[in-house]
Amino acid sequence: MTTIRGWCPGALRPMAGGDGLILRIRPHAGRLSVAQAQGIADLAAQHGNGWIDLGSRASLQLRGIAADGLPQVHARLSALGLLDPDETSEARRNILTTPVWDGPETPALVAALETALAAAPPLPPKFGFAVDTGPWAVLGGASADIRIERGTDGLILRADGMERGEAVTPASAAHRAVGLAHWFAARRGAETRMAPLIASGATPPRAATLPPLTGPAPQPGPTAQGLCLALPFGQMAADTLHMLAVAPLRLTPWRSVIVEGVAQLPAHPGLIADPADPRLRVVACTGAPGCAAASVATRALALRLAPLVPPGGLLHVSGCAKGCAHPRAAPLTLTGRAGRFDLIRGGTAADPPGATDLAADTLPQLIRGHLAPRL
Ligand code: SF4
Repeated sequence: MTTIRGWCPGALRPMAGGDGLILRIRPHAGRLSVAQAQGIADLAAQHGNGWIDLGSRASLQLRGIAADGLPQVHARLSALGLLDPDETSEARRNILTTPVWDGPETPALVAALETALAAAPPLPPKFGFAVDTGPWAVLGGASADIRIERGTDGLILRADGMERGEAVTPASAAHRAVGLAHWFAARRGAETRMAPLIASGATPPRAATLPPLTGPAPQPGPTAQGLCLALPFGQMAADTLHMLAVAPLRLTPWRSVIVEGVAQLPAHPGLIADPADPRLRVVACTGAPGCAAASVATRALALRLAPLVPPGGLLHVSGCAKGCAHPRAAPLTLTGRAGRFDLIRGGTAADPPGATDLAADTLPQLIRGHLAPRL
């Protein structure tokens, strides 16, 4: 086991956090069986801080794991079928799966891709794949470099950054995806992601003539695959996960889960079933005291400010300039610095602020009085 500081922790390669180790778990095909969900809830309660985080790549994080409890956690994850054989396999299995699949095709494609990745070249840590083969593609806005998608007439393989992809079949898709990874690796130079390489003028080797068939991503509420429930800040308590484990769970990259085949569950304060819930208009990282890099508490503030954010707006409250919870630009960002906040409009947490050194208790008035109409 290697303990590292930095990005991309895994289950076998935890990251040091402010309150213990952080383990990231990538369920196969983004789906948890009932037993796996219960097992992860138990691990969070018994070895972690009692919470489970769902990330923007539909992976789960356990935080606050003590180093001496790690062997037990690994043994349980292994028994649940959630531990890769080694760090290399774990790092390579960077696959985002659509949560809106029906039938056996999508899980079979993911399994084939997992197998085919054994022949993949070394790839940069964040380089990843998307299997977006539901009735239509929904993951276009989520981070991935090589995408297997639904086209109008069968499957396509698309390099991120290209508008169109090449035709593939269920039998050829995984092999071709790895072929495209080799093409990237041979040309990338210092580039770490596919889209900038494409933007620089590189063109994938096979004719890319077919656009993906795109459609809406699932919103909180009933869906064709089951009940979709968003998690405030992408976080749920172990008890909440136990409550959800009445059926297999599909994890989404939008910090929500779909409870497969279930139409209704009792209302729960830790779950969002209404797409108009103001908590969906704020994102916030762990902040203080959970993250050692933070000088401010983030989530309590974000909850206070959420009702002031107009529908369609987004407020990002970040504990520091790293912007973990929302690496992209947001209409409005509050970045913690030395116990106070900088305010950035239309940028990331690291962009130059328009106002600095703001006290937390002045922010509601600032947002209510001046900022909300322009969010
Ligand atoms: S953005 Fe938040 S979670 Fe990420 S390092 Fe900074 S304080 Fe920690």
